[in-house]
Amino acid sequence: MTKIVVVGAAGKMGRAVQAAAGERSDMTISATIDVDDDLGALATCDVYIDFSTPAATLAVACAAHATKTAAVIGTTGLGDAVEAAIDELAGVAPVVVAANFSLGVNLMLGLVRQAARALGPSWDAEVVETHHKLKRDAPSGTALAIAKAIAAGHGSDYDQVKRHTRDGDVGPRPRGEIGVATVRGGGVVGEHTAYFFGHDERIEISHRATSRDIFATGALVAAAWVVGKPPGRYTMLDVLGLPS
Ligand code: NAD
Repeated sequence: MTKIVVVGAAGKMGRAVQAAAGERSDMTISATIDVDDDLGALATCDVYIDFSTPAATLAVACAAHATKTAAVIGTTGLGDAVEAAIDELAGVAPVVVAANFSLGVNLMLGLVRQAARALGPSWDAEVVETHHKLKRDAPSGTALAIAKAIAAGHGSDYDQVKRHTRDGDVGPRPRGEIGVATVRGGGVVGEHTAYFFGHDERIEISHRATSRDIFATGALVAAAWVVGKPPGRYTMLDVLGLPS
């Protein structure tokens, strides 16, 4: 029986993970952690699942480093300091990090990269994402992953070609630029579209999530997979056995 600690347990995803774990006979929630709770439970679980905030993800990754606890991390908008702490943890324990745990989105990343490689930068690539009005970070981690997959398909350096805001006299769109636009409202779970604009034609590759259950189920698949793996940083593509 795999023992799991849920971090961010009182949140929307934390509750979805606990509900999904209740459906599995091979896993048990040994403890839950939310704001100000003690992190001691990390020492006695097989793996922790974290959907919280970047500050919490940092604190928990540092604590898990001491206990070499395996991790599944879904928090987005992390920033360099948190990424560095996760890399430190991955030096001593296996860690799956994914901005999106759904099978569909991870398939989409491969499709988008393939399309970008085939079409090249003369087809203008743009990403549009829509989420519920409580989401804190923008663009979504998934939109960034899609945009980076396009850059990988083009063979370009994402930081050189990204455009996250357009406001005022921005001029003509440079060839190879990758735009990412954000929409916020209502209770939308998550929608992402990658556009490829040719001269007289357009391709759209879209994913729409209608329930958080897909992320919770995917995080549990990742948790079952990661326990016992060698230390290292893994993606959902590794978990699902999809080409990276
Ligand atoms: P939420 O605001 O509903 O929940 C966050 C929870 O973290 C809250 O209960 C909050 O009290 C808790 N928290 C805050 N500080 C904490 C601390 N120091 N220690 C422990 N817990 C703390 O948010 P949500 O919708 O559940 O999303 C959480 C994160 O997961 C966000 O970054 C979101 O973008 C991301 N997310 C990822 C995926 C994915 O598939 N990877 C899917 C959905 C959401």
